[in-house]
Amino acid sequence: MNFAIACDLEGIGGVVGSPGEGLHQTSRQYAFAAAQAVREINAAAGALFDNGADRVYVWDNHNGSLNLDYMELDKRVDIIAGVGEKHRWPGLEGRNISGVLLIGYHPMAETYAGVLSHTCSSTTYQYLKMNRRSMGEIEIDAISAARLLKAPVIFVASDDKGVAQAKEALPWAGSVVTKKALGRNLAILKHPSRVVDEIYSEVSGAVKNMDRMELYDIMDPVEVEMRFLRLEDAEKLNNSKTKGAELVDPYTVRFTARSFLELY
Ligand SMILES: [Zn+2]
Repeated sequence: MNFAIACDLEGIGGVVGSPGEGLHQTSRQYAFAAAQAVREINAAAGALFDNGADRVYVWDNHNGSLNLDYMELDKRVDIIAGVGEKHRWPGLEGRNISGVLLIGYHPMAETYAGVLSHTCSSTTYQYLKMNRRSMGEIEIDAISAARLLKAPVIFVASDDKGVAQAKEALPWAGSVVTKKALGRNLAILKHPSRVVDEIYSEVSGAVKNMDRMELYDIMDPVEVEMRFLRLEDAEKLNNSKTKGAELVDPYTVRFTARSFLELY
């Protein structure tokens, strides 16, 4: 059995970020988030190996990659680092992945008072819908895993709002709530060491229930609706007339993609 762990940072235990900014190299909590992410990944990887995994890949995918201290990762893992990929889950097609895990993931853009909620870019989108359903990065990476790897999401770690969204789309997946969101930059934090312990036991449970896991996918063609934060972004996409783009309102553009893989 081979597994892939995708790691974002906003949903990591102990992280709330700072008002008015995302989590980037100069943010106060960036170094903590990256270090705690390593601990959470190692807990998940340890649980996978203890339950029969042959290979575990770690995809360091927050904002331009290169976030984690690779020397601190469990030395049995292989690491996917860097940018420039054509699709999500780079390098993993054809590697017989049995399941994928999402660690440090966060609620979708239009989530009220979710910790650091966004979809793909916190400075670009108010929301993203596909086939009239709201999508966040949890859903996008679940569909991408189904399409590219034929692999189900078996585990998600996020704040309580991200986990609630994951449970709606992926009710079979194991999960750990890393914090209870009270606002965009406010939460009751589960102690980061307890988050690590819970990830180990939940991932162990998920691997023992692989027969329960399902693929999450949507139908092609995909009707995409993007509501932008800035008028000029909507104007630009509408003027490009790609894929028959049409303006729904001054902030919102709708178009059809023949396949999900044209998008991600
Ligand atoms: Zn991120």
